[in-house]
Amino acid sequence: MLPVDFHSHTLFSKCGLHTIIEMLTEAKARGLAALAITDHGPKLESCTPSTFWDRLLDPVVGIRLLKGMECNVISDEGDIDFPQKFLKYADIILLGLHPHLPRGISAPKNTEFLLRALEKNPFVDIVTHPEDEAYPVEFDTLAEYAAGHGIALECNNSKILNKRVSSERLLALLDACKRAGCRIAVNSDAHAIGEVGLDESVRPLIEHAGIAPELVVNRTAESAFAFVEERRGKKVTV
Ligand SMILES: [Zn+2]
Ligand SMILES: [Zn+2]
Repeated sequence: MLPVDFHSHTLFSKCGLHTIIEMLTEAKARGLAALAITDHGPKLESCTPSTFWDRLLDPVVGIRLLKGMECNVISDEGDIDFPQKFLKYADIILLGLHPHLPRGISAPKNTEFLLRALEKNPFVDIVTHPEDEAYPVEFDTLAEYAAGHGIALECNNSKILNKRVSSERLLALLDACKRAGCRIAVNSDAHAIGEVGLDESVRPLIEHAGIAPELVVNRTAESAFAFVEERRGKKVTV
């Protein structure tokens, strides 16, 4: 079980099954110190209300709510769909390639597309599921960029648990992270309470890859909160 989970979805995402309260309550019962609610960005027709950002404060006693979003790249110029007026409330911002994009694009092109967005939006903290075969990216290029900019690449439990990605593919990503020395965030990507905080499907692969524990930003609650605070400096608005 993760001490802090940086990636989960609620009913505000079209794909989520539960409320924020239900997700947090389950995470607390499982012993997590914090759960990030990271519903999809508006490009995927999610409906996170403004009150999530500017009014909701730790609604379940005993567990910290980390406010976040899993954003999308929405232009060739590197724009993403995070509503920037809420940047000051955000704890963690994720970015991933999702089904609004065409499939069958080459890895070099997808990588260029993704790196342009990371360059333009330095407040993105974690790149989600880079191992997704529908939107291939060059692992070494991405891992080197991430290492140079303090970004973490995600090791996604849900994709392995639900057999959407092969173990070999995730191991290839982890090997690239190891070569580049870039940081890794192990996340559940839970869409239902049953998956909150899970890391059991990827834990053996991380060990098999020989990833140094200090590269995993959420190896402990303390390291996870330190990552959030370190990255907060990237979210300063002018
Ligand atoms: Zn995603
Ligand atoms: Zn997700």
